[in-house]
Amino acid sequence: MAPLILLTNDDGYLSPGLHALRRMLSELGEVWVLAPEKNWSAASRTRVFHKPLRVYSAQLPDGSLVHVSNGSPSDCVLLAVLGLAPRRPDLVVAGINAGANLGRDVTYSGTVSAAMEGAQAGIPSLAVSLDVTGEPEESPDYEQAARVALRLAQEILRNRPIPSGICLNVNVPRGVPKGIKVTRLGGKIWTEELVRGKDPRGRDFFWFAGEMQITPPEGEEDTDISAVLSGYVSVTPLHLDLTAYEALEPLRFLEELRL
Ligand code: MN
Repeated sequence: MAPLILLTNDDGYLSPGLHALRRMLSELGEVWVLAPEKNWSAASRTRVFHKPLRVYSAQLPDGSLVHVSNGSPSDCVLLAVLGLAPRRPDLVVAGINAGANLGRDVTYSGTVSAAMEGAQAGIPSLAVSLDVTGEPEESPDYEQAARVALRLAQEILRNRPIPSGICLNVNVPRGVPKGIKVTRLGGKIWTEELVRGKDPRGRDFFWFAGEMQITPPEGEEDTDISAVLSGYVSVTPLHLDLTAYEALEPLRFLEELRL
């Protein structure tokens, strides 16, 4: 039987990155799409527990039918894995996100969280993001990024499984990639800035802004940030065990406290 690939994203089902991946991954097997109806970027691993989830069919601009949900990216993966997909997916792919997901910021990412959800369910999972400028006149090359995802998906499905519980965070640089680097997470790539202003009704508003680094940071040559800023595809294995193991023993004294 052809492999079943569950495809989702966090930019919503109308995102061109999702459409490019759907077309490209169809070469490998059956692509079953369940994507959010709206943009959940930076939603992290949000789950919707306080209202019913809905799933319906929608038509993409190319005429194909996909499944759409009012749930988050993580909800979409779990809806599929817990019974809506025609069978258990062989691979979960989230993306292609409009914008890189790098360094410390990956914990904000809905794209990465969707892949985490797949990994937690014991399914090989990829998060795929493309570095874009964000300028209105930009036309990101999702086809190129989708080809990178196709090559990786091919390798994983051909008996080169990802270790259990681990997802791959894939970031594709702008332009033609020079190759692939397996990396660790870097530090912060965005500066944080708070913009204040008055809205037309005279009330204060606050808007987070900031700038992305454009040169690889010193001492971080082996990180995802350096790889992408140097023109390489970055592949970072991630897991959800956030335990700081090196702090377990130094904190053991807390167990002696009398309550
Ligand atoms: Mn996004």
